[in-house]
Amino acid sequence: MPRQFFVGGNFKMNGVAQSITDIVKNLNAANLDENTEVVISPPAIYLALTRELADPKIGVAAQNVYDKPNGAFTGEISVEQLRDNKINWAVIGHSERRVILKETDEFIARKTKAAIEGGISVIFCIGETLEEREANKTIEVVTRQLSAAAKELSAEQWDKVVIAYEPVWAIGTGKVATTEQAQEVHAAIRNWLAESISAHAQESVRIIYGGSVSEKNCRELATQPDVDGFLVGGASLKPAFVDIINARI
Ligand code: PEP
Repeated sequence: MPRQFFVGGNFKMNGVAQSITDIVKNLNAANLDENTEVVISPPAIYLALTRELADPKIGVAAQNVYDKPNGAFTGEISVEQLRDNKINWAVIGHSERRVILKETDEFIARKTKAAIEGGISVIFCIGETLEEREANKTIEVVTRQLSAAAKELSAEQWDKVVIAYEPVWAIGTGKVATTEQAQEVHAAIRNWLAESISAHAQESVRIIYGGSVSEKNCRELATQPDVDGFLVGGASLKPAFVDIINARI
């Protein structure tokens, strides 16, 4: 079975009720490729608003979730609270949380397990810094990040994961990976899935690329056999997001 193309929009800490309403209404009214799964991720405070406004065929993701079910964890949001707001996706392990908020591989893996066990699918973000790429450590870094998740998840639980390969040096910088760079890492991730998880995961888990994806570069990236879609930051706030969703038509 071919993997369904997947495009996520990460609004990060951008937008207020009016601008998010405009973005969602624009998406609702657009002609979106029916073969593409679309999931948008607004700031937590606008998750319920976004879910209420968005066409049901558009998924909505939290940008984070906590690994404990409830309790004295000021500022955090639980899996149950997401589900209570009809949110069934979460972005976990984004490099901004890894780098700025110092989230570890193990913590990210525990949050991924908690989300999946609570019925939330996960956009699991991985990627190397520029320093790591220049030291030829890209594959070592991404497989280390994936292996932490593999310690927590059963082979079947990978059905609920979309892997987002996002080189840190490409996020928000305008410096997109070349199609060859993206394909090379995606193919290595697929090999890792075969060796460390299962043949089924190798075939079925979607591996999407993120890092300065735009309406100008998305079509070429989308031709690569192991690029199953995109995680889009800045451009997901603009009308051009529709062109990225439609990169395969
Ligand atoms: C992201 O935030 O996941 C991202 C890829 O950002 P941008 O598209 O702005 O580089």
